[in-house]
Amino acid sequence: MRTTQALFKLRGSIHPEYFKGLARDKDIVAMPLPKQLCVSMAQHLGAPAKPIVSKGDHVLKGQRIGEAAGFISAHVHAPTSGTVTAVEDGPTVTGTLALRVVIEPDGQDTPANALPPIKDWTTAGRDTILARIADAGIAGMGGAGFPTRVKLSPPPDKPIDTLIINGAECEPYLTADHRVMLERAEQIWQGCEIMRSLLGVKTVRIAIENNKPEAIKAMQTAIAKADGDVAICILKTEYPQGAEKQQIFATTGREVPSGGLPMDVGCVVENVGTTYAVWDAVVNGNPLIERVTTVTGHPVAEPRNVLARIGTSYADLLAFCGGLTCDAVKIVSGGPMMGIAQSNLETTTTKTTSGLLFLEASRVPEYTSMPCISCGRCVVACPMDLLPAELSNRIEAGDYDAAESLNILDCIECGCCAFICPAHRPLVQHFKMGKSRVILKRRQAQTKS
Ligand code: SF4
Ligand code: SF4
Repeated sequence: MRTTQALFKLRGSIHPEYFKGLARDKDIVAMPLPKQLCVSMAQHLGAPAKPIVSKGDHVLKGQRIGEAAGFISAHVHAPTSGTVTAVEDGPTVTGTLALRVVIEPDGQDTPANALPPIKDWTTAGRDTILARIADAGIAGMGGAGFPTRVKLSPPPDKPIDTLIINGAECEPYLTADHRVMLERAEQIWQGCEIMRSLLGVKTVRIAIENNKPEAIKAMQTAIAKADGDVAICILKTEYPQGAEKQQIFATTGREVPSGGLPMDVGCVVENVGTTYAVWDAVVNGNPLIERVTTVTGHPVAEPRNVLARIGTSYADLLAFCGGLTCDAVKIVSGGPMMGIAQSNLETTTTKTTSGLLFLEASRVPEYTSMPCISCGRCVVACPMDLLPAELSNRIEAGDYDAAESLNILDCIECGCCAFICPAHRPLVQHFKMGKSRVILKRRQAQTKS
């Protein structure tokens, strides 16, 4: 049995209630085409794509409709065939506006067939495979959506020796990755082999929390005949076990330095959904135009793991799951810890939409923030070894230089500190604002110099 236990326990971490049982045992179900798809050009980390279609154009399924606009960017494709009815500003998950292409499906789902399948990827060559991953618009599907082609092309002075496939899915409620591992284990392993060959590494760790025994078994079966140092790494169930830096530490014992990247310690981490998408793009020639999203929460009539086209509105996703059986006072895009609260259901899915969560009033208690009592619990809970209380004080005082020197940019916004704080301090809100101020300050300094 190719199985190993996590080498190291996370520093910090918390144990929230998980509620994964709501959707964990629900098969992935494909959602029929909605009446309209609104495909945002801001699908991923980095520069939004540039639209290359206009109102009135007829597009085919998988046709490129947005061109990557820089090194950290990714192409965007039509999720189905139909007519472009608008290219306009539309809401994104963060509440900002970004250009989007609105498509009225023609119901035919006629494919563009722009990317021919690469049946024997082992002889296709590194450049061909990397170009395919870029052409398919693949971006990380478990976090901020870093373009995958960039991650898989580390510079020569950053040798990689370990590929980690992230199946932790540590956010409460979410089960999309769990189902992908159960139902697509063999394809994930093939995608992993493709990436392993691109990186030239022998060591692969597939990291899964121990609250997913069926997924562990499915992936064990898939890797049974694998060559080299390949193992399932069983992680203790604790949050934020799925965060990139924490996962590298748990599986290899290596610590990504402050301000550093996984490649600084010889690692590349890819989510299981992304790994499947790589396989699908290379072997089947399919660009990334759909993903599995967990629609869940106690108010949802039928929580499900929905395979929906990118650009599906949150309202359509909810309707496909039977609507609500009681009032929801909070809507979250993503999980409850790192997800983003939504004020309405107009936003549409992107390559990173892992979940859509509805919470009823009893699970969203209203707190009044009180002064810090210096209990130190946030320091113990922080997986990044930061001083959340001190950081929060400095940001409240507008002292961003001090926040920078206290390594605020290392904050992964996991929310462990806020979860544990008895004074209900709005810590993550402070850190998000503080990080943006520090980044702005650095940019302004760069512009001046
Ligand atoms: S949100 Fe930031 S400061 Fe708070 S626990 Fe997470 S990493 Fe630490
Ligand atoms: S947990 Fe809250 S009250 Fe305690 S030290 Fe941290 S910020 Fe202050």
